[in-house]
Amino acid sequence: MEEKEHDPLYTRRHSLAHVMAAAVRRLFPGTKLGFGPAIDNGFYYDFQFAEPFDAERLPDIEAEMRRIIAEKQDFVRREVPFAEAVKFFEDEGEALKAEYMRELADKGESISLYDNGEFTDMCAGPHVDNTSRIPVDCFCLDYSSGAYWRGDQSREMLTRIYGLAFGSKKELKEFIRAREEAKKYDHRKLGKDLELFTMSEKVGLGLPLWLPNGTVLREELEKLAKEWEQRDGYKRVVTPVITNEQLFYTSGHLPYYADSMYPPMNIDEGQNYYLKPMNCPFHHVIFGSRPRSYRELPLRLAEYGNVYRYEASGTLAGLLRVRGMCMNDAHIYCSPEQLENEFRSVIMLHKRYYELFRIENYWLRLSLHDEINTKKYVNNPEAWKQSEDAIRRVMKDIGIACEEVAGEAAFYGPKVDFQIRNVVGREETASTNQLDFAVPERFNLTYTGSDGEVHTPYCIHRAPLGTHERFLAFLMERFKGVFPTWMSPLQVLIVPVSVERFGAYAEKLAAELNDRLFRVEADLGPESMNKKIRTAATNKIPNILVVGGKEEETQSVTWRRHGHQEQRSLPFAEFLAILEKMRQQRVMDNFEDTILPEA
Ligand SMILES: [Zn+2]
Ligand SMILES: [Zn+2]
Repeated sequence: MEEKEHDPLYTRRHSLAHVMAAAVRRLFPGTKLGFGPAIDNGFYYDFQFAEPFDAERLPDIEAEMRRIIAEKQDFVRREVPFAEAVKFFEDEGEALKAEYMRELADKGESISLYDNGEFTDMCAGPHVDNTSRIPVDCFCLDYSSGAYWRGDQSREMLTRIYGLAFGSKKELKEFIRAREEAKKYDHRKLGKDLELFTMSEKVGLGLPLWLPNGTVLREELEKLAKEWEQRDGYKRVVTPVITNEQLFYTSGHLPYYADSMYPPMNIDEGQNYYLKPMNCPFHHVIFGSRPRSYRELPLRLAEYGNVYRYEASGTLAGLLRVRGMCMNDAHIYCSPEQLENEFRSVIMLHKRYYELFRIENYWLRLSLHDEINTKKYVNNPEAWKQSEDAIRRVMKDIGIACEEVAGEAAFYGPKVDFQIRNVVGREETASTNQLDFAVPERFNLTYTGSDGEVHTPYCIHRAPLGTHERFLAFLMERFKGVFPTWMSPLQVLIVPVSVERFGAYAEKLAAELNDRLFRVEADLGPESMNKKIRTAATNKIPNILVVGGKEEETQSVTWRRHGHQEQRSLPFAEFLAILEKMRQQRVMDNFEDTILPEA
């Protein structure tokens, strides 16, 4: 789970940021400071060096940090009036620190400063009481990169130095090892090697182009979601990507969310149109497009919807943070009495997906409202109580690990996040389920109850598979690029022992498989058979059929599976029957221990 402020490791990482800044100031006098927080694998600090920084100096900084630790410096807290602190940093020439502090000045009277040795920083703490508490073998400096002051491209470009810090030397080494391993399977690398997706400056930053292979992955995922959603009673809708701004004023995205939206197009005599950052308002309009009766509830509207968000260019990263994405979205409109059941189905649907993809280490985070500080939440105590109790009951029944965090709910209702760990152990939110008892009212959504009265429905926002971009990036890394047969871009490669003699048989089998809508190729190129089989392994093709004279004579194939040494000879008809079952049952044959169906 995420580190908490008073976690000893957090405190150590945070203290190390101060120690690093102190070391940098000793080695590079005149260096100015930005921010220096703890992060989930260590710490960083942003520096404004007088001369361009050379990363070859990182070992010198690390050595100086160890000297500072050996000096056994105390961390001493001082509470000083704001004006005094601002003056101190101005006198030191710390313009950025002073700027930030002036912004804070209207939030309180005084601010805390921390001294260690000759170094002073503004900080809320906490820190270790003495630098000698930091074991010298549990941290190291990692790398440096450019970073704008407060992420703002129009401001100073600073040098950010990252450090790693863990509870022990062993954990540090294990993290570095896992990260090296993970680099081989980074989704950006796999995306290129396996020709899944690409990005082009000609198109724009953060706007992925899905290549034919990657498009297969998306479509297989969509097919799965559509089948399961149909079984769960969802109805599909399609909505436009651009919309009149009024819709977003009604939803409340404008003006508050404007920074995260693409700038508007001014058309139709002064009307602004926006690219949609979310699908919700469109589904609300569909619900409200005619009077609704309680007999229609729950109404579950689903859409694989394309949304666009104007993320800062510095934060874009492969498929993990993009500007254009496609969401596995749906909105469920229900009565208060139906809420618990609907929520249960949504959680069960997640569970089914996670079981299918063998995502084992996951847990739920339930964000509740703050019972004391209720000001920032919709004032509807009954709805809060009813919905939070219902969610807790569902969690308990289903038996998935769950942590509760008070005060993190959205202003319009509690939410449940599915948390997973990526390959280097970083916690990520895989999907969010949001309960909403305010927005239906904003959109004036109502239904006539069995009592003949008009009621406002609740709304559940859910997206179990998140976006194609994030979910497929996660699967690419988790599967190390090896997809199960049912998802694989190329499902079967047929390699004749000799193209001249058995090429026709290979083509005949390929045509038969293609006829049954399998993705298949017969490799009739000039390379040797062994070379073709090696290339197929590099491309992680799940099934290779080797065919020669014996196979042709008996209408059979020799079947080799990716990652398996042994091969199997069987009649083609039998192979076909197994393949059909693998597709139909969505068998995860990319996991070694998966048992294949019989013909
Ligand atoms: Zn600090
Ligand atoms: Zn929504």
